[in-house]
Order: sequence, then C-alpha cells, then structure tokens
Amino acid sequence: MSRVQQITVLGATGSIGLSTLDVIARHPDRYQVFALTGFSRVAELLALCVRHVPRFAVVPEAAAASRLQEGLLAAGLSTQVLVGEQGLCEVASAPEVDAVMAAIVGAAGLRPTLAAVEAGKKILLANKEALVMSGALFMQAVGKSGSVLLPIDSEHNAIFQCMPADFSRGLSQVGVRRILLTASGGPFRQTPLAELEHVSPEQACAHPNWSMGRKISVDSASMMNKGLELIEACWLFDAKPSQVEVVVHPQSVIHSLVDYVDGSVLAQLGNPDMRTPIANALAWPERIDSGVAPLDLFAIARLDFQAPDEQRFPCLRLARQAAEAGDSAPAMLNAANEVAVSAFLERRIRYPEIASIIDEVLSREPVFAVNELGAVFAADAKARSLAEQWLQRNGR
Ligand code: NAD
Ligand code: MG
Repeated sequence: MSRVQQITVLGATGSIGLSTLDVIARHPDRYQVFALTGFSRVAELLALCVRHVPRFAVVPEAAAASRLQEGLLAAGLSTQVLVGEQGLCEVASAPEVDAVMAAIVGAAGLRPTLAAVEAGKKILLANKEALVMSGALFMQAVGKSGSVLLPIDSEHNAIFQCMPADFSRGLSQVGVRRILLTASGGPFRQTPLAELEHVSPEQACAHPNWSMGRKISVDSASMMNKGLELIEACWLFDAKPSQVEVVVHPQSVIHSLVDYVDGSVLAQLGNPDMRTPIANALAWPERIDSGVAPLDLFAIARLDFQAPDEQRFPCLRLARQAAEAGDSAPAMLNAANEVAVSAFLERRIRYPEIASIIDEVLSREPVFAVNELGAVFAADAKARSLAEQWLQRNGR
C-alpha cells in the first residue's frame, strides 16, 4: 500500500464508530483520522479528538460547537469544528478523504452517506437505514461515481466474503442459488409470547451476543433488524427477496452463508465482534489484524439453527412485505420503525405496539414511485406523520 489512507468516521461516538477507531489505532502506518462526527455526546467526541487528532470534527449545532471548540483549544488542538448536516456532507466528500465509515444511526445518515458516494469515496456502510430508504437511487449513485461499497453489517460482510469477486454480474450468472441470512433471535427468542406485553427497553437492549447502540438493539429484539438486513442484502447483492432466507442461529458464530447451485454452501464464521467486518472492509482486499480473539470452536461446541417464528416476530413479516412492494414501502417501513422504537425507548408504548404502528402506517399509505431523493424524504415524512397520529390517537 502506497500511502496512509485518510478516514472520515461519521457517527464516531457510537458503538460502530468506537470499534472503527479501535481498529484504526492498531494501524497508524495505514490509516489516519481525517474527521470525526458526533451528535449528543460532545465530551466523548472531544476525548476522541484528543486521542486521534482529526483535521475536522462535526457537531449538530452552534452551542455544541462552541463547547467542543473550547475543549479543543484547551487541549492545544487545531481541529476545525463544523456544524450540522452540511458539515457532515463536507467531511464525507472532502477531496483528501479516501474512505468514509457511514455509522450514523437511522435516516439522519442518508445525506452524508450519499455525499460520500457521489464524491466516489470508498464507503464502509454500517448505516443500513440509508440503503433501505433509498436503495435504487443509492445503488445508481454508486454505479455513477464508481464508489467502492463495502458492507460492515456482519451478515452482509460475511456474504460479501462468500461471494465470488464478479458477483455483480448477477447471482444466477455466478451460480448462487440463495443467500442464507443468519439471525441470533435476540433477547426474546424464547420469552413466552404473553410476557412480551411487559418487556422493558432495558430487556430489549440486553442482546445475548452483541453489544450495540440502543436503536439497533431494539431492532434486533423485534427482528426488524433482520427485516432491514433482508432489504439491504437485496440491494447489495442484486437479489430478489425470495432469494434471501432468514435462519435463526442463536450462537451468532456463522455470520451468514451463500448457497451455490452445485450444492456448495460457503459460510463465514467468527467471534461476534464488529471489529472483524470493520477490519475486513478497511483493508479490503488485504487482511489486517482487528484485535479480535481467534475463534475457539471447542468452547462453542455446537451450532443450532431454527426457522424464524413470524407470530413472535411480526416485524420480519412486515419488512418482507415492504421488500416485495418496493418503491416507497421500505422508506416508510424504516421511518415508522424509527418513530415506534423511539417511543418504546421513551416508555410511551409497549413492545408489541412497535409492530402495530408499522403495520398501520404501511396499510394506510399506498406505495408510490421514488425516482428522486425528494420522494424518499416525502415517504419518510409521511410515515413519521402517520406514526405520530397513531401515538396521539392512542394517547401516548
Ligand atoms: P449508536 O447509537 O451507538 O451510534 C450512533 C452514532 O450516530 C453516534 O455517533 C451518534 O452521535 C450519531 N447520531 C445519532 N443521531 C444522529 C443525527 N441525527 N445526526 C448525526 N449523527 C447522529 O449506533 P451503532 O450501534 O453504532 O449503529 C450505527 C449504525 O450501524 C446503525 O445504522 C446500525 O444499524 C448499524 N450497525 C450497527 C452494528 C453494531 O454492532 N452496533 C452492527 C451492524 C450495523
Ligand atoms: Mg447485522
């Protein structure tokens, strides 16, 4: 490799952001931090700036910017502070940047991630919601700019590793029959159905295998995360929803599999630690140390598999319906889910009502075409307003 790569980390203060910085710090000969962005945790962002000395840092508004600026000056750093979505787009597309880790959670990550795509950057995509919302437009933009798109989601990174290099020719052209997307089943895999009425945000966020941000933790409990990942896989690998099968695998050791027409099934295995897919994407097509311990198969001893239970996980069914409907449906599914998950985390609704809200939003608005970004944001706004109407009508 010729020179040190300049990396922007969008969502640096989050779970993926911190894991990314851990891997980067192991390879100062390869990577330098160009920009770090945060949202509410300014003190944490300042500590990361002191540790990684970026050229730029981005916060959401002016008050946060002056607090960060003060801390940077006190620490003797010349990091420049930018503000808001425009700041995020600037550090995602700056000419000096080689790769962008897209790790903002939710729809808020769409514009900055697209700015990086349009600027032809190497994209390390954790922010699955951006792709779910705008799939067709996102992939068109990737094609147009020649951006290299590498999946960070552990399942999609596993699939990517199990695919032949020329998979973009089409799955049938390269002999792939199916993608098998593994799911842990989350904390409520075996909870009696009647108890789901009373589960708390803390219980939903206590994932058995992975440590993650709160939104994706709730999505994992409801299996909406797997639904979003089903849509993500369709866009990344040009698959039909019917070609992606969800397999519940409670140990989270097999991160996904690819089934070929000759009967070969390739899988990627590893400890459940996001530093593996992050290191894989950062160094691709090379390999670097991630700090993850070697897999101990004797300690794991057994691997189990089950079909997903759609009565227990209605969000998975709703996501598959949205995947099949296409157009505005995935953006509406995503936005309704974001509103419902926030309401659940704020204890305004019960856990099963997450699915009720999404179901109602999807059934109230007919699917419409999304040929430009304005239509994606219109679908997002419409779903948010219908979800808010549900909350108001039910006195939440
Ligand atoms: P997190 O909540 O820990 O971090 C989210 C980051 O986004 C933080 O840096 C936060 O400051 C920033 N952010 C939040 N709202 C913002 C806004 N409105 N504008 C700008 N920045 C904002 O989440 P996470 O677990 O790190 O997940 C990040 C993304 O990666 C999500 O899309 C998630 O689905 C995906 N992902 C995460 C994991 C995981 O193991 N954590 C695995 C696969 C995919
Ligand atoms: Mg995943």
